[in-house]
Amino acid sequence: MRTIFSALLLLLACSAFKASSQETTIDLIVYNGLIYTLDSAFSTAEAMAVHKGKVLATGTSVSIMKRYKAAKNLNLEGKTVYPGLIDAHCHFYGYGMNLLRANLTSTSSFEEVIDKVVLFSKENSSPWITGRGWDQNDWEVKEFPDRSVLDSLFPDIPVLLKRVDGHAAIVNQKALDMAGINTTTTVSGGEIIIKNGRLTGVLVDNAVDLVQNLIPPPSPEQIKKALLAAQRDCFAVGLTTVDDAGLDRNVVELIRELQDSGLLKMRVYAMLNPGKENMKAFVKNGILKTPLLHVRSVKVYADGALGSRGACLLQPYSDKPDSRGFLLTELKEIKKISKSLAKYGYQMNTHCIGDSANRLLLDIYGKAQKGQNLRWRIEHAQVVHPEDFRKFMDYNVIPSVQPTHATSDMEWAGARVGPGRLQGAYAYKNLLLRSGRIALGTDFPVESINPMNTFFAAVARQNADGDPAGGFQPQHALTKEEALKGMTIWAAYANFEENEKGSLETNKLADFIILDTDIIKSPVAASLNAKVVATYVNGEAVFTAR
Ligand SMILES: [Zn+2]
Repeated sequence: MRTIFSALLLLLACSAFKASSQETTIDLIVYNGLIYTLDSAFSTAEAMAVHKGKVLATGTSVSIMKRYKAAKNLNLEGKTVYPGLIDAHCHFYGYGMNLLRANLTSTSSFEEVIDKVVLFSKENSSPWITGRGWDQNDWEVKEFPDRSVLDSLFPDIPVLLKRVDGHAAIVNQKALDMAGINTTTTVSGGEIIIKNGRLTGVLVDNAVDLVQNLIPPPSPEQIKKALLAAQRDCFAVGLTTVDDAGLDRNVVELIRELQDSGLLKMRVYAMLNPGKENMKAFVKNGILKTPLLHVRSVKVYADGALGSRGACLLQPYSDKPDSRGFLLTELKEIKKISKSLAKYGYQMNTHCIGDSANRLLLDIYGKAQKGQNLRWRIEHAQVVHPEDFRKFMDYNVIPSVQPTHATSDMEWAGARVGPGRLQGAYAYKNLLLRSGRIALGTDFPVESINPMNTFFAAVARQNADGDPAGGFQPQHALTKEEALKGMTIWAAYANFEENEKGSLETNKLADFIILDTDIIKSPVAASLNAKVVATYVNGEAVFTAR
């Protein structure tokens, strides 16, 4: 049957060639696949015609082959195609910077840490050796390490290796010397570990800063290197747009420079950090939009994280009755920012974890937007009071959430907020029902960059090990269709870009991915192992699996 079909296609391709040989040749036809167009009817197609970076048409293989003649015909051999994926909240640049440091996560001993650092130092020459991710709790000897091996290997280069949480680090003698740390040094809010009258090289909390502050800020070359390294990894997992949640002027300008030079092909939706310089350079000059870069939003922190009890709650923490957490930005300042962003037509995207932070910001949004739909977003919307869900609808607020946070936090989140409040935590289905749309992301590098993990966690409400059976609060699960929309068309809407991307329809951008798995029709567990076969931006292959 398949042979007959292929023969038929070939025949049609030939006749189409004859019929349209007078007409212009288009760039690309992909055919013989299953294309999830993500149009409003959630329709599928077999083939798609692409020209000059845009989708010309979708349809059956026969109809598309008949209508167009292409310079390149790509037989999908039954594979599935989706619009290029969008990560609605991540730290693209931060992830790239991490790639420039030795990655010490999942090491099983300090010897393994040393091996990795040695390898890293051979591949990267820089005046400092930095790394991050070790955790002595993963080692057989669950004790803080000692600097002596680092001293003998690196007598002349300063080394700073941070623990996984960033709250402790081991440094070598050279770094201690440069920071002027000796056995008599004291630091408030920090600790310098001494054993048998000798500095071990382990620094805790504020003591880490004594060394950290000596490291020069990254050069433009390093920043560019980081961005390109991040792009390579992101294309390999099917991302074609990243919403970077918190950038400064210098990085945004370098992103633009790299994009203009053709090296950075990733589309970036840049959320600016608040601050005078960014306000002056961007906000006050209005919206900046190029084919690859979109600057029209500011990311604000309302509160901190639930894990460290820095989230701002309406009632005390269930496991710390004397604390309700706190706001990271003063209320007065948040209100001021909201007014000025509304004035300049900018989008306000606020990190809100606790139910108090969510309530405060929803109310501020309601006031500042004055009934208009400025598409302001709440980032994370992690713990929401039952009475506040409707405000997402009333005030046209878009929830921007990270489904893997639910499965990363599920083991301790209940302890922090108790069973009652947990009902309104990571409640993505409720948020979607109220707002009509939900934007999905990962917050990488806090989580893995792989959007398939987002899809799986949103639908199965399980971690990558498949725990817990039945899912964590399965009533808050999204359907596969909703999860896919959250990573494409709804995320595009959250970026004011739904008319150009997020679906594969005529005149939209030819940003798409080919997957080896049909994540809509397969059991959800299959999505975890789904592999990207190719990623296209603007009709051009930017990643092809080997
Ligand atoms: Zn973030």
